[in-house]
Amino acid sequence: MPRFPAGFYWGVATAAYQIEGAVDQDGRGVSIWDTFCQRPGVIADGQSGAVATDSYHRWEQDVALLAGLGATAYRFSIAWPRVQPDGTGPVNRAGLDYYDRLTDALLAAGITPVPTLYHWDLPQPLEDAGGWMSRETAQRLADYAAIAAGRLADRVGLWITLNEPFVVTALGYMLGLHAPGRALLLDGLPSAHHQLLGHGLATAALRAAGASQVMLTNNYSPAWPASPSPADEAAARAYDTLHNRIFTDPVLLGRYPDLSAFGLGGGDDETSGQAWVHDGDLAVISARLDGLGVNYYMPTGVAAPPDAADSPQPFQLQPISGYPVTAFGWPVIPGGLTELFGLLAGRYGPALPPLYVTENGCSNDDRPAGDGTVDDQFRVDYLDGHLRAVHAAITAGADVRGYFHWTLADNFEWNEGFRQRFGLVYVDHATQARTPKRSYDWYRRLIARQRA
Ligand code: BGC
Repeated sequence: MPRFPAGFYWGVATAAYQIEGAVDQDGRGVSIWDTFCQRPGVIADGQSGAVATDSYHRWEQDVALLAGLGATAYRFSIAWPRVQPDGTGPVNRAGLDYYDRLTDALLAAGITPVPTLYHWDLPQPLEDAGGWMSRETAQRLADYAAIAAGRLADRVGLWITLNEPFVVTALGYMLGLHAPGRALLLDGLPSAHHQLLGHGLATAALRAAGASQVMLTNNYSPAWPASPSPADEAAARAYDTLHNRIFTDPVLLGRYPDLSAFGLGGGDDETSGQAWVHDGDLAVISARLDGLGVNYYMPTGVAAPPDAADSPQPFQLQPISGYPVTAFGWPVIPGGLTELFGLLAGRYGPALPPLYVTENGCSNDDRPAGDGTVDDQFRVDYLDGHLRAVHAAITAGADVRGYFHWTLADNFEWNEGFRQRFGLVYVDHATQARTPKRSYDWYRRLIARQRA
């Protein structure tokens, strides 16, 4: 592996609902994922994050695993309902205490804490009041940001506001596959704007509370047309707008992309003519950022819909073949990450802040061998390929400052329950025993060599 720049963050990422469990302890409120998981048939094996990997109780063990890895940074998320159970009003001190202890333990181990405020666990009372379809939720996020940073910003410099607002909008509000399970199709788009507004307001609140660096994490996926036909190319452009541009153009350029492929627009460039975009919103949303978080898993194959006139959307997703696939069936294409950095640089030029890979990883069908070891050579190859892709981008001029592997230990993988294993550490979900896999050891040795 070639050498990365000095000070590059060697990290790992997790999210509260996927690891903490203890959903009814020490005053935590109910989140939309607690509610959603109770709907019959939505989560594999009827599972939920009620126990997850019990990191709320086993956090010291998890910090020890991070320290053993030699990680220099840890991206975790703060559970909003733990800190402010109703999403508004009183603060739950016991919830804040948990993140306080975690922060201190990380710092004592020489690991930079990088908290994400919102990794999908909206307090249920806020959803009952409209969730991200309501403009009010943006202000609630800012209030919560002030509470979290008020406690932690004396020790935590780098903050992430939102995780993957695209996934929240697309799966949560358009298709109903994730919490809160609303299938509004294109009528769900205001949830995108309200999250972005929340990001802007929370950015100001974090800075006011002393945060020195703020970033937003998006999920990015190069849109690959299924063929060079003009129809497939147009479909890929439309998908690219929805997946990649709606959540970045307003933040970095202060304007929405052209939404005419979705039958929207017609207004001026500033607002795309949407009633949910108010005067002044884009100035709030485009507040200066210190970094952009890039979550990368794979490119997306896109074709024109067979019957364009009748299709509810201007594209159709198409599997990409010819590559190895993960246990999830996702194609493994490290070059897509290098391509993505080029695409971001071309699109945003000097407006692009420093970049961090805030998630990248793969699920694999890991099983312990007779002697208890877990040989996930597949993940080692995945890591090696994607880190080389990051390095190639840096060599080509991209300002990438860190890599956070998804994830530390096998956890609650949303709709898939516990079926998909993404960890560097194997978790026996019956006993919560943690066993580092071969990939943990590989990453550990790599980090040690890079830091020597
Ligand atoms: C999410 C994670 C998730 C991972 C793998 C990302 O979209 O931020 O929470 O576990 O993908 O599916």
